[in-house]
Amino acid sequence: MRSAAAPASVHVRAPGKINVFLAVGDVHDDGYHSLATVFQAVSLYEDVIATASPDFTVSVSGPDVDPATVPLDDRNLAVRAAKILAMATGYPGGVHLEIRKSVPVAGGMGGGSADAAAALVACDALWGTGLSSQRMHELAARLGADVPFALHGGTAVGTGRGDHLTPALAPGRFDWVLVLSDQGLSTPQIYRQLDEYRLEHGALADDPPESLDVPPAVLQALRSGDARALAEVVFNDLQVAALQDRPDLERVLAAGAEAGALAGLVSGSGPTIALLCASADDARRVQDECEERGLRALHVHSAVPGARIIA
Ligand code: ATP
Repeated sequence: MRSAAAPASVHVRAPGKINVFLAVGDVHDDGYHSLATVFQAVSLYEDVIATASPDFTVSVSGPDVDPATVPLDDRNLAVRAAKILAMATGYPGGVHLEIRKSVPVAGGMGGGSADAAAALVACDALWGTGLSSQRMHELAARLGADVPFALHGGTAVGTGRGDHLTPALAPGRFDWVLVLSDQGLSTPQIYRQLDEYRLEHGALADDPPESLDVPPAVLQALRSGDARALAEVVFNDLQVAALQDRPDLERVLAAGAEAGALAGLVSGSGPTIALLCASADDARRVQDECEERGLRALHVHSAVPGARIIA
């Protein structure tokens, strides 16, 4: 049970992510694909405020959130995170989770995963369950492949389902303009479309998942902090499938290039487009130009820390 000194509520902030490199291998029996990816956490955050409660409840708000798109029951990833923690630690009570969203829903930026990571950290502090970081990582991996990264933040290589994380060195700052979409894309559907595309085009048939790797040039570009070098090597296997579904995103990529972005790519399973810029000033110019074309654009930077308690 909570001690007399336990806080009445805990506020945790967790970042959205982009995949600066994402190679997708074969699909496994459990439905997951082998991945080789590099995550970077970006300065677009989810805030989760956990308040002591006998039951498990959740509310969701945010400037661009259509309430119909986020489940408010046990399907909500943050609620699942709180319940899994209570189960693992034998905590007998519940929690109210207030989620303030800034990461676009179904945007390919891991917003739900950030909520789950934030809920784990918040409930652990609220309930005084004192989980080790290894145990926290295990629970996170059970919730979804992107959840461990949202806990971790920074820059990391993900292999396996994307949940085997190795921190990567990326001491510099990278500036990005994110172009948001009104409609989300379903991650499982984009993976299915990629499988179908590859079947039709005979791709990957002789390419076993073991060959999946992050090219050294990607890690070198991150280490150097050189946006121009990174622009040469950003890559996303899911892009072809996302563009099939949303051909209008080709125009967004072209607009980014015309506005002076060094590179553009679909973020994760899309539809958010991430435009890599040479500097913060360049990113502000690219953002302005995108907005002049009627696009919804945000300037963010990477890499930022993972889920953290806010004082
Ligand atoms: P993924 O991490 O699978 O790539 P995504 O980043 O594209 O997903 P999310 O915003 O995480 O997209 O949400 C994907 C779906 O998960 C939503 O359509 C929604 O139905 C469901 N979902 C469950 N919990 C949440 C949550 N806390 N926030 C947003 N969506 C959630």
